[in-house]
Amino acid sequence: MQPRKYEGIIKKYREFLPEIDDEFIISINEGNTPLIKSRNVYKIINPDIEIYFKYEGLNPTGSFKDRGMTMAVSKAVADGSKAIICASTGNTSAAAAAYAARAGIKSFVLIPEGKIAMGKLSQALMHGSVVMQIQGNFDDALIIAKEISEEFEVTLVNSVNPYRIEGQKTASFEIADELGKAPDYHILPVGNAGNITAYWNGYKEYKQAGKIQNLPKMLGFQAAGAAPIVLNHIVKEPHTIATAIRIGNPASWQKAVKAKEESGGLIEAVTDEDLLSAYALLARTEGIFCEPASAITLAGLIQLNKRGFFKKGDVCVLTLTGHGLKDPQNAIKVSSEPIVVPCDKKSVLKTMELI
Ligand SMILES: *Cc1c(COP(=O)(O)O)cnc(C)c1O
Repeated sequence: MQPRKYEGIIKKYREFLPEIDDEFIISINEGNTPLIKSRNVYKIINPDIEIYFKYEGLNPTGSFKDRGMTMAVSKAVADGSKAIICASTGNTSAAAAAYAARAGIKSFVLIPEGKIAMGKLSQALMHGSVVMQIQGNFDDALIIAKEISEEFEVTLVNSVNPYRIEGQKTASFEIADELGKAPDYHILPVGNAGNITAYWNGYKEYKQAGKIQNLPKMLGFQAAGAAPIVLNHIVKEPHTIATAIRIGNPASWQKAVKAKEESGGLIEAVTDEDLLSAYALLARTEGIFCEPASAITLAGLIQLNKRGFFKKGDVCVLTLTGHGLKDPQNAIKVSSEPIVVPCDKKSVLKTMELI
C-alpha cells in the first residue's frame, strides 16, 4: 500500500530498497523532485529532440546526495551507530550533517581546504558537523575517512557505502514513473561516479520488475581537468571550477565504465569554459539555477549535438545534481555587475532605456 502522504524515498520505493524498520528511518522527505520539460533551450540547441531536467537541487539540502544519505544514515542508525564520517567536495558533507542532526548522532566531515563552495560549507557548519579542512584534495581525504571508519566505530557515508547507491537509484524510478518509460538518453555529471552507477542500477531493476520496457543509454561527463575515466588514468591534481566533480580517482570508476558499456553510452570530457556557458544559458533561458557541476550535462549535450549525435524524437533527461545557490560566487562571476544608478526616477528610466 502506498503511504497517503509523501514521506521520502524509502517509504515510496521500499520494495526496491534494502529492508529497514520504520522506527529507524531518518528522512527529511527527500526525493519527489520535479522533472521539468525544456521550454526554450531545446529550440536553440536542436528543436527535434526533447529535453527534460531532473532538478535534484530541490532536495532538502539542495542536492541528490540526500537520496543516498537517508538510506545510509537510516541503516547506520539501525545498526546502532552513533557517528558518521565522510570526505566531501561539499554536498555529501551538507547531506551527512543534516541527516546526522535529524538522527541525533555525530558527524565528522573532511573537506579539501579552500575548494568547497560557500553554501555547502555553511550547511555542514550550521547542522553541527565537526568540519575539518584537509590540506589536500578530495581523494586524499577519502583515504583518511575510510581508514578511520575501519579502525573506529564511525560509519563511512561516502558512496563506497553501498546504501548510498541504493538510495540514489530512486531518481531513475521517479523519471520512469513520470515518463512511463526510460528516456533514450540519460545525461549525468561524473565525479566519484556513484550517481551514474546508481541510475543505471535503478533503470535495470525497474525493467526487470516489468515497470519499463526499455533502457536508456548513459552519457556521463567529466570536467576536462578532472577526467580520469576519459583519460583512463588517475589524475593526481584534478582541477576544475566545478568543485563537486573535482575528483582524480573515482571510487566507482569500474562501475561507471560498466554502466557506459552495458548501456551503449559514453563518458566524455567538457571544458570549464563550455560548462560555464551552459550554466548561464540554462539559468537565462529556462529559469533553472543549478551549480556549475550540474550544468556539465547541458554542455555535454550541446557538445554531442554539434556532431549530429541525436536523431529526431530523442528524449534526453539531464540530472541537475545541485542547486545554484550552493555556489553564489561562481554565479556572480559569470554574470554582469549590478548597475549603480543615482537615486532618482529619471536615472532609473534612462538605465531602463525607456527615455
Ligand atoms: C556529488 C556531486 C556530483 C558527482 O556525483 P558522483 O556520484 O560523485 O559522480 C555532481 N554534482 C553535484 C552537484 C554533486 O554534489
